[in-house]
Amino acid sequence: MATWQCVKQCGACCHLDPIDRPDLDHYLTPAELEQYLSLVGKDGWCIHFNAETRQCNIYFDRPRFCRVETEVFKDLYDIEPEELNDFAIDCCRQQIEGVYGDRSLELLRFDRAVGI
Ligand code: SF4
Ligand code: SF4
Repeated sequence: MATWQCVKQCGACCHLDPIDRPDLDHYLTPAELEQYLSLVGKDGWCIHFNAETRQCNIYFDRPRFCRVETEVFKDLYDIEPEELNDFAIDCCRQQIEGVYGDRSLELLRFDRAVGI
């Protein structure tokens, strides 16, 4: 069975351009939406994303909506804990495909890491 994990040298979910996420207001509170939009840089990437290391500069203080945690996913997307693994894999694959492409090294590395 595939098991979700976040892989290094990815960062696809830190590409926050709201054009690619038209339903943000369906799952974020107004305050979170405001916070989300305040993070979007001119290039569509989060202002806290380090493009060289592909890491979050505020990892330990990152917002709730950046966290793949059972309570967060239940609250934001109504995903039960037992559904989280498959849901998170689908989210990552979708995000990686959108940012890097469906033939990208990033997608290949993600699939290998999770066991697809
Ligand atoms: S898209 Fe998934 S694998 Fe890539 S950085 Fe985000 S959580 Fe990690
Ligand atoms: S705060 Fe960190 S984890 Fe969240 S989108 Fe920005 S760089 Fe990514």
